[in-house]
Amino acid sequence: MDADERVQMLLMQEELKRLNSPPYVSGTVLDIGKKTLRISVAGSRVIEISAVGTEKCKVRKGSSVILEPTSMALIGLSEFDKSSGAVVTVEEVLDNRLRVQKGGESLIVLNSVKDVSVGDEVSLDPCDVIALERFPKKKTKFALEEVSEVPWRSIGGLEETLRTIKQEVEDPFIHRSVFERYGRKPVKGILLYGPPGCGKTMIGRAIAYNLSKIAGGAKSKCANGHFIKINGPEILDKWVGNSEAAIRKIYAAARDVAAENGSPVIIFIDEAEAVLKTRGSGISTDVYDSIVPQFLAEMDGLNGHSNIITVLATNREDVLDPAVLRDGRVDRRIKVPRPSREGASEIFRIYLKGKPLQENANLVKLSSRLASNIYDDALIVYNVVDPNQGVLGNFCYRHLVSGAMIKSIVDRASNHAIQRELRNGTRGISVNDFDSAIKEELVEQAGFTQALARDDWDNVFGVKGKQYQNACLQGYLILENALVIRASHDGGTKNVSN
Ligand code: ATP
Repeated sequence: MDADERVQMLLMQEELKRLNSPPYVSGTVLDIGKKTLRISVAGSRVIEISAVGTEKCKVRKGSSVILEPTSMALIGLSEFDKSSGAVVTVEEVLDNRLRVQKGGESLIVLNSVKDVSVGDEVSLDPCDVIALERFPKKKTKFALEEVSEVPWRSIGGLEETLRTIKQEVEDPFIHRSVFERYGRKPVKGILLYGPPGCGKTMIGRAIAYNLSKIAGGAKSKCANGHFIKINGPEILDKWVGNSEAAIRKIYAAARDVAAENGSPVIIFIDEAEAVLKTRGSGISTDVYDSIVPQFLAEMDGLNGHSNIITVLATNREDVLDPAVLRDGRVDRRIKVPRPSREGASEIFRIYLKGKPLQENANLVKLSSRLASNIYDDALIVYNVVDPNQGVLGNFCYRHLVSGAMIKSIVDRASNHAIQRELRNGTRGISVNDFDSAIKEELVEQAGFTQALARDDWDNVFGVKGKQYQNACLQGYLILENALVIRASHDGGTKNVSN
């Protein structure tokens, strides 16, 4: 073998050795001691290697390094220093560590990044041990409203409901030490359930407003309380496939604001049944199986944030996952019912106050008369008809009354008065304006059978209510527009204001 051939052979041997050698191991530097380096190695191991000879490498905390696979000796810095690990949200900054949220769980990780604050996103190394890169806080997608002025007195006909809410939500906030003495923790969440348009959202805003007033002291008109309103279906639609992240971000945004100024934050989830349905019940899909645990983790993680209150609103409380309503989560269930006749009268009073009325009508008397009018049993909105048995019963106006409907009647009546004043200068809302408004509202209601809640069926039909409702949904029962029937009953229009 001549010299050239020997060189060729040596080169081939080198190449063979290279091809046979195992790949380098990559790792992330967690800590640099005087004698050793602590390194997290991909594959969930933390090792300590000698620091001798590493000075030249300019290794720092968080550096990506490569190691010799058998001895694990440091070879040098990796060319690829950007991490490819998970991106997580920072919950708490602790000296040189961070508490972060990953997949609904809290993790403590080391920190190698400067100027991290709560709510920032950071990327972790592949072993989830150290934060390597910071991504500044994204502007939240959630409308974080400064609370608007909604005093309790602007809500009518719900005296009992409001009393319970004040006891459950306000009292622990005002008398913190007394509640602590009895081992009672401030409420973390309440469920408001009841038919649509009866004031659940309004109550949510009123809680935010009144708590911020309390937090800001008696003189403050309103300290910077916040209200985040999200609709359940919106979480599913807008964040398809990423609804857990949406829930996480909502709570991160709330924690941020609460931490910034210590003021109360109300997270209001309307139509909560759309996202928090019972898991594995056949009525849920996989989506709920991941959203519910995320929600539970967020609720459980709120310990120590007594100024963040979750308010769920629904008219299908029966389908909510029981774990959501368990002790220490959304554990106060409060019904927001349709107004009684007296309640309706109070709501009319609220919306008519200050409006010009014709013939100087007395506000209290007029409100009470209008309430009596809409509670008239002759005002049938739906007949519930079984093709074999005939009419089973009727839904009257009074079965469908809501605060929203009363406000709409007042708005319609005001519009009539405005048009008349513009036409001929006559000022004030007349009795006829109210008659027309009530009829218009009746016609419009008749088109919305979905406004009937399960409770409404029970109220009208007692124990058979649910059965009839199901039959109706399956098309066995026929719902007819009641106006047709009214016409044949009384042969014409009825002056509803008398
Ligand atoms: P949904 O279930 O459809 O979301 P909701 O129960 O949340 O309805 P709100 O949105 O609070 O009902 O009510 C709609 C509007 O109706 C309110 O903004 C308010 O103007 C009026 N309203 C409802 N209930 C009351 C009430 N009890 N007192 C005064 N106004 C009311």
